[in-house]
Amino acid sequence: RPRVLSGIQPTADSFHFGNYLGAVRQWVALQDDHEAFYCVVDLHAITVEYDPKALRERTRRSAAQLLAAGIDPERSTLFVQSQVPEHAQLAWVMSCITGMGEASRMTQFKDKTAKGGADRATVGLFTYPILQAADILVYQADRVPVGEDQRQHVELTRDLAQRFNHRFGKTFRVPEAYIVKETAKIFDLQDPSSKMSKSSSSAAGIIDLLDEPKASAKKIRSAVTDSGRDVVFDEENKPGVANLLTIYSALTGRKISELEDEYAGRGYGDFKKDLADVVVEFVTPFREKTLTYLDDKAQLDAILAAGAERARAVTEPTLAKVYDRLGFVPGP
Ligand code: ATP
Ligand code: MG
Repeated sequence: RPRVLSGIQPTADSFHFGNYLGAVRQWVALQDDHEAFYCVVDLHAITVEYDPKALRERTRRSAAQLLAAGIDPERSTLFVQSQVPEHAQLAWVMSCITGMGEASRMTQFKDKTAKGGADRATVGLFTYPILQAADILVYQADRVPVGEDQRQHVELTRDLAQRFNHRFGKTFRVPEAYIVKETAKIFDLQDPSSKMSKSSSSAAGIIDLLDEPKASAKKIRSAVTDSGRDVVFDEENKPGVANLLTIYSALTGRKISELEDEYAGRGYGDFKKDLADVVVEFVTPFREKTLTYLDDKAQLDAILAAGAERARAVTEPTLAKVYDRLGFVPGP
């Protein structure tokens, strides 16, 4: 079976609809016919300012949400990145074959430092994509289900894998991004020109999966729509409505054209009200399941520890092979 690897950062109390529709939903689907590795990437989360206590809580909340979304820890290997040391070890190696120029071209770093300025950012935030490359390569993953914003990082990963293979002999599988076009980029409800993001969306712009369902409904109803009153999918002129149509279609499995027909001549009000209902129907059981998983922290930690052990069965041999190729003297 082909291998799949992906990760999510514990940088917020809740995942949002972008995370779910852009990535996590695919993770759940892919575990059926893939050997799947899914992780909560806490090493990535410390690249920006954070609170240690909140990180621990958010890491567990992230794992609980993945379970609630349908990740099955029997079929998939679910773990926390910091519990598998080979990620960080391989990241160092990868950083030694990455050019400063190519690292500097990564747009996520530019986006995330647009406000505070690059001088105030950490080196870790700069090398983030190199750690991500190591995450993927250490599992010899074939596919990486992510949102559109991560495409460039998967491209870098491919370049690094090919470079290493060329220089030191075939070692890594060269992975492919797995991006579902329709939901690859979910936009901020208040600013439909930027992506919905845990760290940069305003509270009103983001629909969190763990929000009070009533609060989510309200956010949908007050989402920015565009002038006019026709519910049509026009990303250029009506990005707000297009975004809501994307979410509506993804949650119900109904075609966008079908939704356009249904709301023809009815205006935005009805459309938003119905979408709010659809969202409430989705988040209500999701939230309950997540809270149930969080009730038993010992069990949650045990699931993650077992996952880390299974992960290491793959990462240790990969790293040993890499160290050998690099010319390191074998250790004890
Ligand atoms: P942060 O703002 O802290 O970077 P984030 O919201 O971007 O958080 P991540 O943990 O970085 O979330 O990303 C997890 C996964 O969710 C990635 O595969 C990413 O591509 C995907 N993703 C994030 N935001 C969106 C979005 N708005 N639309 C589609 N996919 C998204
Ligand atoms: Mg992100």
